[in-house]
Amino acid sequence: MNALTVHNPATGDVLATLEADDAPAVAAKARTARDAQPAWAARSLADRRACIERFRAGVVAEREALAHLLTTETGKPIRMARNELDGLLPRIDFFLEQVERVTADETVLAQEGLRERIQHLPLGVVANISAWNYPWFVGCNVLLPALLTGNAVLYKPSEFASLTGREIVRLLHAAGVPHDVLQPVVGGGETGAALLAQPVHGVFFTGSHATGQRVAQSLAGRLVHLQLELGGKDPGYVCEDADPRTAAESLADGAMYNAGQSCCAVERIYVHEAIHDAFVRHFVEAVRGMRRGDPLDEATYLGPLTRAGQIGVLQAQVDDALAQGAQLQLGGGALPGPGNWFDATVFTEVHHGMALMREESFGPVIGIQRVRGDDEALALMNDTRYGLTAGVYTPDEGRARRLLSGVRAGSVYWNCCDRVSPRLPWSGVGDSGLGLTLSTYGIQAFTRPKAWHLRSVSG
Ligand code: NDP
Repeated sequence: MNALTVHNPATGDVLATLEADDAPAVAAKARTARDAQPAWAARSLADRRACIERFRAGVVAEREALAHLLTTETGKPIRMARNELDGLLPRIDFFLEQVERVTADETVLAQEGLRERIQHLPLGVVANISAWNYPWFVGCNVLLPALLTGNAVLYKPSEFASLTGREIVRLLHAAGVPHDVLQPVVGGGETGAALLAQPVHGVFFTGSHATGQRVAQSLAGRLVHLQLELGGKDPGYVCEDADPRTAAESLADGAMYNAGQSCCAVERIYVHEAIHDAFVRHFVEAVRGMRRGDPLDEATYLGPLTRAGQIGVLQAQVDDALAQGAQLQLGGGALPGPGNWFDATVFTEVHHGMALMREESFGPVIGIQRVRGDDEALALMNDTRYGLTAGVYTPDEGRARRLLSGVRAGSVYWNCCDRVSPRLPWSGVGDSGLGLTLSTYGIQAFTRPKAWHLRSVSG
């Protein structure tokens, strides 16, 4: 067994050392899951739902301790950690409400002597390889519908959210999900790679495009059901008829919430030249008002970066932007440790030749670009290999609809940003991913439709 050390990103302190699973341990877990899955699928849906209802009650009962752990492990400010746990509840409720209807057998033809039916079967054993930035959300978006629909799950939380991942598993086991049906796989990238080598029936991955590509390559040739929820470079466009202050406050929150470490964080802003300067003033004021500090402090809005390695990525983007003539309005670099701290950074006079406007930042760094009108804004919003979300700010719904219809993205927003709904599919276009979670489609994603052709012989 290898060891995995978990640090507090705010202080650099070691929080725990966990035993990581090596390849033989991962293989043994996969065998156990395979053996256990048919009995889990054979249990009634009511039984499986009751487990998830008890899990929900467990999350509610332990909310404060779970939020505290999430904050110490990832650096997410405590209020945002609570928001994540609170936001999980409507997701659970949605899955519980919808699973029966979505997975019920369907008769699609009933004629004299001939019936056609669709049955929704579980995929079998699925691997859930998950990111650290919203571990409850991205973990449970897969775990809950997968378990409800009768799959066994091998769950590898990110090494940066292993303790939270362990709590998710503990609560699901305590709620009645058998230990063999849901198994944690603990470790870093090597452990993830060992998991992919197992004969699983589906792989559900949330993480960066670079790792997602490696995952897809390692599965090529095996024809395993694969979903990839990857990064983004999400734009927001502010039209000249928008209120600059309201738009600035909304987009500043979208850019800086969780220190910019959201897959759907606002990463690029385009503002009509007529209100550009007013918007920048309000935006800088809003970011300046965000309190940085101990993430356990109730007043903190900006915490540390979860991963130390991201400081170098952000600094390289900042240096490149400065070298190419961007104007620094706020921040501009790493802050002294201990811990992984980066100043909230705002640039203007940016362009698409800068890495800041092309590559995912995944941190509290943003560029604001002046545009002459809708055509230019739309062209710039689509000038990306990613396509997760995009937003437009204007009071004119028709204008917003025209613009958003032209945007290549999985989710589009009018006068809002950085928002996820359990009722809507969460998906990406281009390098933002393949497949989806959430919505009724995100339940069916864990099932395989089997077609029944039933011809009765008249006797
Ligand atoms: P990574 O790609 O670094 O890691 C994702 C997961 O893959 C982790 O569990 C990681 O393990 C594991 N992993 C690493 N290497 C391998 C490998 N060779 N084989 C199998 N698994 C491997 O992403 P992050 O965790 O840093 O997450 C941030 C990224 O996730 C951002 O790009 C963000 O945009 C994206 N994201 C997308 C979401 C979406 O819904 N589209 C939602 C949330 C995040 P370990 O961490 O232990 O190394």
